[in-house]
Amino acid sequence: MRVVLVEPGSLLRKTVARLVEEGGHRVDAFSDSERALTHVAAHEDVACVITSLEVAPLCGLELCWSLRSLAGTTRPLAVIAMSADRAGRRLGEVLDSGADDFIVKPPEAVALHARLRVVERALALQRQLIRDAETDPLTQLLNRGGFLRRAEAVLAGRGSGDDLLSALMIDIDHFKAINDRHGHDGGDRVIRAVADLLRETGALTGRIGGEEFAVLMPGHGLGSAGVVAERIRQGCARLRVPGRRGPIPVTGSLGLAAWTAGDTLETLLARADRALYAAKAGGRNQVMAGAGDRFDRVS
Ligand code: GH3
Ligand code: MG
Ligand code: MG
Repeated sequence: MRVVLVEPGSLLRKTVARLVEEGGHRVDAFSDSERALTHVAAHEDVACVITSLEVAPLCGLELCWSLRSLAGTTRPLAVIAMSADRAGRRLGEVLDSGADDFIVKPPEAVALHARLRVVERALALQRQLIRDAETDPLTQLLNRGGFLRRAEAVLAGRGSGDDLLSALMIDIDHFKAINDRHGHDGGDRVIRAVADLLRETGALTGRIGGEEFAVLMPGHGLGSAGVVAERIRQGCARLRVPGRRGPIPVTGSLGLAAWTAGDTLETLLARADRALYAAKAGGRNQVMAGAGDRFDRVS
């Protein structure tokens, strides 16, 4: 795993870095706690921070606290505090500040390696829990919460606010009738088949409601996103999902919106949603694109 080490003493820093590397990890070493924090914030793949408590300009406890608040509930990040204070008088304070573990410095190789293995086990479990919490069990797509979180991250990572970005909302038509005619399991098969079609786009896709999906397409304006949307519409109509009385006819209505200045994820998705309702009102099995308060039929 990628480990950040914060230790002001250059000799100890080198020694601990080598120990951690011997355990099979990659180390980014810092003497300055503020720079270390910035580095952890910028590199999502940093999974563990080992910090001396004798650091500056942020003191060790401040760094632990800042790392814990940076990680929040969605980023698995382990923090191990390190101090020469063998009495461990500050242990409670350290753990309460957000550290997961405490080691005496200089650490012993065997103990350090074992502790890092414990960290890896705990992080693997956390990652699995986060994945499960964000995954829709029926389709294995992101669920609503997972989709919104990832979509916010896409927006936050955009270079300039002018980059092309489109959002698509999809709702299966007359789905209640599909359930009524082919049973709930027939309906489930249809939901899975549509999810598989959406997965093929390679874009960020979520099941945000019963038979409703959202797709976020960075790099796409209305033109190319419209082509993707039309392919999905046609793909739905071509599905041959086995039902109680032969293949289940499936169509979907799609609403498309492109990013415009001043948008947030919420306003973008709301516009795509209004376009979707315009597609429903227009007779279903069609793609509508929304710009401002106007909606135009794409296909
Ligand atoms: P419209 O064309 O206007 O979208 O009509 P509709 O029948 O699709 O309308 P609506 O969106 O109200 O119906 C959605 C139905 O989807 C209602 C609910 O019983 C069903 N549903 C929700 N989740 C699931 C699911 O996981 N599996 C199945 N089989 N049905 C579900
Ligand atoms: Mg619906
Ligand atoms: Mg529907």
